[in-house]
Amino acid sequence: SCDVLTFGETMISLHTEGGLSVGAAARTSVAGAESNVAVGLARLGHRVSWAGRLGADEPARLILRALRGEGVDVRHATTDPRAPTGAMLRERLPGDITRVHYWRTGSAASRQRPEHLAPALADGARLLHVTGITCAIGASDAVLAAVEHARAYGWTVVLDVNHRTRLWSRDEAAACLRRLRGLVDVLVASDDELPLVADEIGELLAGGVREVVVKRGGAGADLYSPGAGPLHQPALAVPVLDTVGAGDAFCAGYLSGLLDGLAPGERLHRAVAVGAFAVASRGDWEGLPHRDELALLDAESGSALR
Ligand code: ATP
Repeated sequence: SCDVLTFGETMISLHTEGGLSVGAAARTSVAGAESNVAVGLARLGHRVSWAGRLGADEPARLILRALRGEGVDVRHATTDPRAPTGAMLRERLPGDITRVHYWRTGSAASRQRPEHLAPALADGARLLHVTGITCAIGASDAVLAAVEHARAYGWTVVLDVNHRTRLWSRDEAAACLRRLRGLVDVLVASDDELPLVADEIGELLAGGVREVVVKRGGAGADLYSPGAGPLHQPALAVPVLDTVGAGDAFCAGYLSGLLDGLAPGERLHRAVAVGAFAVASRGDWEGLPHRDELALLDAESGSALR
């Protein structure tokens, strides 16, 4: 069995520098919040299984090669013979604006059912990681089944809200997330996402959530838990190249700290360090640190490591 099981939609992504135009060059990559977290955890040395659903197509093969190459276990990934792998296009517009286009309606991942996860769940894990995105694309039954199984077997259940305004309305998200929140051990959200899940953090802690981790971008993060005051961790000061994926990187760092049994403050420190690697590099996950690189950001800027 693995340390962590995660699943959700992973897409082929194309990135253009500047707006989309005829003849523009595009960089191909692999995008998906859960697989970003999986790569982050694998690079930190954890055993992680990604059990998403893909089409029977070339984008699926590229995604599996990339994840396998990063040491993510994809044995429980499944193939839908009748639906395509999802896709996205990201344009980098002037003024550092990113505009995203999705082709995920009817995708293989949006049709993931509880039964597709059965072998992955039967294999066991210490921790289950899910995100609100999987609910937003229409696979909330699979999320609920996985969460219920994980709870029944004593795994730690982690939900990252990851609200995507393009996929569902705030009302739809709130209805779904408020149903899920009572089944979660660790809730991760950005400060603007919190109102979707609860009117106040105390409500979550009273309802059984053991840890609420709030991401605040360049202002760092806070950890709330019952019986303890909030714990604040400032972000690391790094040159910001590309903030997409910072939240997933942060989450990978936090989960890594949980798996290693780190104290709350140390978990948060690892989370902001991995988040800093993500913002300081291009790509959603390409710049995530291996375990031996974690301490690099503590080295003095400009130093040569030899
Ligand atoms: P996304 O959805 O784009 O991945 P998010 O909103 O989920 O992002 P953020 O709060 O933007 O997540 O970032 C997550 C973490 O990454 C922050 O808590 C922080 O530790 C780190 N981070 C984000 N922005 C910066 C920054 N400008 N400088 C340093 N660290 C940052």
